[in-house]
Amino acid sequence: MDLVEVVPEKLHMLRFPIGQAYLWRDGDALTLIDAGHAGAAAAIEGAIRSLGLRPERLERIVLTHCHRDHTGAAGELASRWDAEVLAHRLDAAVIRGEQPVPEPVLPDWELPLYEHALTVVPPAPPTRVDRELEDGDLLPFGDGAVIVHAPGHTPGSVGVHLPAHGVLFTGDCVAAVGQVMLGVFNVDRDEAVATFRRLAELAPSVACFGHGDPLTADTATLLRAAVEATEKAEAEAAGAASAAGPA
Ligand SMILES: [Zn+2]
Ligand SMILES: [Zn+2]
Repeated sequence: MDLVEVVPEKLHMLRFPIGQAYLWRDGDALTLIDAGHAGAAAAIEGAIRSLGLRPERLERIVLTHCHRDHTGAAGELASRWDAEVLAHRLDAAVIRGEQPVPEPVLPDWELPLYEHALTVVPPAPPTRVDRELEDGDLLPFGDGAVIVHAPGHTPGSVGVHLPAHGVLFTGDCVAAVGQVMLGVFNVDRDEAVATFRRLAELAPSVACFGHGDPLTADTATLLRAAVEATEKAEAEAAGAASAAGPA
C-alpha cells in the first residue's frame, strides 16, 4: 500500500492494488473516507502510525458506497478502534450484508475490467453501519463536512465536501485513470452523468477520487471540462443508437 500526501498536515491518500482511501486529520483526530479491501486493516494502521498518529484517535469511517474495494476493512478498523461507520441509507443494507450488491450495467469494454476487479479484490465481510446518511448531512470534521448524495455508481453513493478546505471526495462517480472521467461499473449511467455535473459544480480546489491521482491544480476547470466531454460523448452515443434503431 502506498501513502501519498495530498494536503500537508491534513490529508493523505492510501493507495491499494485496486482502490484508494483517504485519511483526514483535525489535529490528532482522524477520519477515514473509505477503508480499502478486506485484510487491509493492519496496513492502514501502519500507515497511520507512520505519520506519527494514533489509530486510537480514529473517530469515524465514512463509506462513499457499498463496493468491496471501499468497505472491506471498515468493520475490522471500526471495532478495533471504536470508530463510527457512516454510509448513505440506500447503500447501508448492502454494506451490512443484508442485500446483494446492486448489479452494474456494463458497456462491453468494462466487462473484463469488472471481472478482473472481482478476482483481485476479496469480498467484503458484512459490516456494521452506525449512522445512515442523507443528502446535506453535516459531519463534525474538516471544519464542517457536507454529505452530497451522488447516485448512479450505486444508489447510495455519496460525495463528501469540505467547503472550508475546498476539498471534495467523489467516491467512484469520478475517476482519474489516464484522464478525469466518469467512473466505471455504474448501476445507472445517466444518473451517474448527472451526479458528475453536480459534483463538478461544487468547484473544489482539491478533488479526491476512488481510483486515480487526486487533482490539486486547476481542479474546478478540469472537472468542468471532463463533465462537458462526458455529456457530449453520451449524447453522441445516444444519437448513434437511435439512428441505428428502427425508424
Ligand atoms: Zn472503487
Ligand atoms: Zn465502486
